Amino acid sequence: MITLDQLLASRDARVEHQMELAEKFPRASLICLTVMLPGPVKRDWRSLAIAHAGIDALHAVFGGNGSGMDTPCSASTCHSERAQRVEESHLLFSEERDLETGFEAYFVVDVPVLEAKRLCCQIEDSHPLGRLMDIDVLRSPIGSGMTSPVSRTEIGLPERRCLLCDKPARECMRAHTHTREELEDRILSMLEATLTIRPAKGEDLKDIMAVLDAARGIMRASGNMDQWTGGYPSEEVVLNDIRLGNGYAVLQGQRIVAYFAFIASPEPTYAKIYQGQWLEDTLPYHVVHRIGSYPQVRGVFKTIMDWCFARENNIRIDTHRDNHIMQHVILKYGFRYCGIIYLASGDERLVYQILHNMQ
Ligand SMILES: [Zn+2]
Repeated sequence: MITLDQLLASRDARVEHQMELAEKFPRASLICLTVMLPGPVKRDWRSLAIAHAGIDALHAVFGGNGSGMDTPCSASTCHSERAQRVEESHLLFSEERDLETGFEAYFVVDVPVLEAKRLCCQIEDSHPLGRLMDIDVLRSPIGSGMTSPVSRTEIGLPERRCLLCDKPARECMRAHTHTREELEDRILSMLEATLTIRPAKGEDLKDIMAVLDAARGIMRASGNMDQWTGGYPSEEVVLNDIRLGNGYAVLQGQRIVAYFAFIASPEPTYAKIYQGQWLEDTLPYHVVHRIGSYPQVRGVFKTIMDWCFARENNIRIDTHRDNHIMQHVILKYGFRYCGIIYLASGDERLVYQILHNMQ
């Protein structure tokens, strides 16, 4: 439960932080994402799901995860790769603050403010959860010592509409047209109709193992008897993903319906490729491992891959020769078949790669 005093204090802190960022990046546009949730609880699974969906959408529009850009990097290939990404991605800085008063995400982009506002309004208006996101774009005249949000009317857009009726949201809020229960029911049904992705946590382990068991069941039912045997992926493997920050949960509403690991190169088993070659084999890449989902959930692979490609351009994946379902979705998404690799156990896997926006 958050009190009005806490909420007001958090707003002051937010304005102060926005000013700090505006001073640090004087010529860039500052974007601030918050979640619109009625009631005194501002941080729960709903607000986190909406916030993560908003962050994904912002990455998809403005480019990959820039969080590593301040970190010195020793490999020379990494420098060139990073420079390329920054140039393409328009993202100078991003930050996430998971606060009890509500999640806040900051993006600094080298896109003119009005264009940035247009792109953010597109997310607010077209993303399935967009009506629950408040994406401010702030201008800060140099030396003014203040920031001010660009309004929708400045770019010729109408006011935001209410969740439940077609009136301007502001009118319904002011007049208390709808009860909190009505609004919360609507928010719940919006969340249940949308797949969202967030970092997996230790307490997700049981749910993730259930998902992976179900995925193994799909493999066996389709005649794929030799992939994911001997208890793989084990709890230890999944916990290790989580510990390293590589494990991700896909949720439908509050329920974990899929899991995957997204891992930075090098993948040791990819060092040698047979009967083919990688599309490109000098740049850093990411690999997606351990994708599993419940059979009845649609669109999981595409949701996961869209999320990955919003962050990275160069992605590899492998699967078993008998996993025809996975081969089909991998190729359908646009991956190119590259050849064969061998796991440490000696088992063979088919490997695939995509390079987006790269030579
Ligand atoms: Zn209304």
